[in-house]
Amino acid sequence: MRRIYRRQCPCPTDWRDRVERSIPDYPEFCKQATAFEALPLNSPERRDGFAAFAPHVLVKKKSGKPDFPAIWGKHKETIAVMSFQKCVYCEGPINALRASHVEHFKPKAVFPLLAYEWTNYFLGCAGCNGAKAHHWPERGGYLRPDQGDPSRHFVFEADGTVTAVKAGSAADRTLTDLDLKRQWLVNRRRFNIEAMMRLLDYAVLRYRNGDKAEANQLARIILRNVSDPAAAYSAALEQHFWRVWKAACPKAKV
Ligand SMILES: [Zn+2]
Repeated sequence: MRRIYRRQCPCPTDWRDRVERSIPDYPEFCKQATAFEALPLNSPERRDGFAAFAPHVLVKKKSGKPDFPAIWGKHKETIAVMSFQKCVYCEGPINALRASHVEHFKPKAVFPLLAYEWTNYFLGCAGCNGAKAHHWPERGGYLRPDQGDPSRHFVFEADGTVTAVKAGSAADRTLTDLDLKRQWLVNRRRFNIEAMMRLLDYAVLRYRNGDKAEANQLARIILRNVSDPAAAYSAALEQHFWRVWKAACPKAKV
């Protein structure tokens, strides 16, 4: 996970109007959502979700189940710009709009007042979004990708595995509940790190052979590529780049 910036994805100016038009009885929706969010987070009613608490303020899906009007879906392409069409959590590239979800950072089933809050939206892949589902920790929450520098809270290893810097932290909960240690993802990170290392090993070799200017130039190009916010798994790659480069060439500058 790396820092993303919301300014690339401004809220539509008429968003509030669209929200109010999409919900059959908006004042009643707000009233019920406020009452629901006043319930303790771990109460059975809250855990059952807002659709069970106030089905009459939602709309019926084809299946007959009550649900939120999903007007955010029309803005998925805009929301995807924020994270360069990558999943904000795992940094995996999304190869088609249908292969991704507009992810509610705080789940709408538990926080219905945030169901239409623009700053609660991110682009998520099926793997991360599916694992996160309606989970929300009783204490502390998860790591937000649009605040601080999320990558500093993780340690990415060469084999693609990842751990949190601090056990029990928001980063640790994010790793566990979003299944960011899943083997499929570990493999993808490892393949990308190995690809980078084929070039970086060569740069280190040149440095040790005395071709320092050329080695530095090559290292600069590698770093520019892997730290590009559009690059897949860039947080893992950038962290590993520095670990290898500083250890092998402590006096080198890029
Ligand atoms: Zn993901």
